[in-house]
Amino acid sequence: MTKSFATVVDIAQDIASGKTSATEVLEQHLQRINERESEINAFNLVTTEQARQTAAQVDADIKAGKKLGPLAGVPVALKDNMCTRGIETTCSSKILEGWKPPYDATVVTRLQQAGAVMIGKTNLDEFAMGSSTENSAFGPTKNPLDTSRVPGGSSGGSAAAVAAGFAAASLGSDTGGSIRQPASLCGLVGVKPTYGLVSRQGIVAFASSLDQVGPFTHTVADAALMMEVIGGHDPLDSTSLPQPMPSLSSVLEQGVKGMRIGRLADMPDGCEPEVLARMDAAYAALQSAGATIVDISLPSLSYCLTAYYLVAPAEASSNLARYDGVRYGMRVETGDLHSMYGATRAAGFGAEVKRRIMLGTYALSAGYFDAYYGKALKVRRLIANDFAAAYEKCDVILTPTSPTVAFPLGDKTSDPLTMYLCDIFTIPTNLAGHAAMSVPFGTGAHNLPVGVQVLAPALGEQTMFRVAAELERAS
Ligand code: GLN
Repeated sequence: MTKSFATVVDIAQDIASGKTSATEVLEQHLQRINERESEINAFNLVTTEQARQTAAQVDADIKAGKKLGPLAGVPVALKDNMCTRGIETTCSSKILEGWKPPYDATVVTRLQQAGAVMIGKTNLDEFAMGSSTENSAFGPTKNPLDTSRVPGGSSGGSAAAVAAGFAAASLGSDTGGSIRQPASLCGLVGVKPTYGLVSRQGIVAFASSLDQVGPFTHTVADAALMMEVIGGHDPLDSTSLPQPMPSLSSVLEQGVKGMRIGRLADMPDGCEPEVLARMDAAYAALQSAGATIVDISLPSLSYCLTAYYLVAPAEASSNLARYDGVRYGMRVETGDLHSMYGATRAAGFGAEVKRRIMLGTYALSAGYFDAYYGKALKVRRLIANDFAAAYEKCDVILTPTSPTVAFPLGDKTSDPLTMYLCDIFTIPTNLAGHAAMSVPFGTGAHNLPVGVQVLAPALGEQTMFRVAAELERAS
């Protein structure tokens, strides 16, 4: 479906072998941006000049016979909540407009060291809060497969950029599904790594106990390569796991023979029938590749959404306290300090961000802390227990990534609760800190892509990628 564009692996090979040049590849991508970006709005900023310089440098290195990084010349887009030195980083919020970070996020540095060509900063739901990219202060991103529909969110710009062929791969962040859900809606592979596997140094914090960074790509092999570049210990992130990144590219051909695949026995309501049909096809495909299907249950699943919408806003209310008109971005001058704080925050934050800050502040306030935040933490423990019990019976769990295919723009904007329901399958992983990824697996309603989610325990990335590769072969 979107696989007509060259993959990361192919681009890197063709540039390294001299079949094409980094400059030529970049110009093809810039050409597509020229043709469709005004319609899609995937980018907050296209860094054309810097990209041309980097590509020229890669070409010069090749001429000089220098050793190349694994992504040399590959155009990559970054979600605009990742710090880029001297380049505006807005989180699609007015409150950060014009702010230029003094340093690069670790993942950005690692991409650069691997030779990637950073092509631009992508649109998102403001501060990564949303499931459709309609909460951006700079207007929504449209789904390149059907521009009357959303690309998903919050990393909708990163997903759309890859699906439209503007970049060969991109990075997003996933706090409750923001990589996997847009990957599913745009027909891409999207990975939410185990908490701590990928550095978050330089990623603007939303909910620190949940946030992770991961790639969007057309193929599982591309995702493996991207993960290998960005993953592994970072001393600058105190939550980073002190261990190297396991090899993923090397396990993709290992198949699933003898593996036990968990199937959710009590599927929550609200899934489109076509999505459920694709799930049946996915189980059948893995079974015919030699895996066994076992029924498992996650009894706390139905509480996860509620728990997430207390934990995430609670952490956000604290993380976003720093935008006070003094240290970052915009300021509304009023003449005295206290009213300046209020006026800046009132003008700078959008409605959804304000809703989260109020929810979070309430949940953390004296008198309500135990009833809300404390209860939510208990649910978090319960879902971890559920997963632990399930993983005694199976190696991975398969669920839909999203209950529906891409929905029309404006469909859910008036009712936050229906928007929150988009995340029913993705949130439990974040609460548990486990690994998960979405793999395109055929189409559903309106001929739009359906993603299958592969869930694995913490540091189960190798197993997860083997299953994902098998699903890709079967589709
Ligand atoms: N849609 C979820 C939310 O609005 C998840 C967002 C994310 O993963 N960043 O919070």
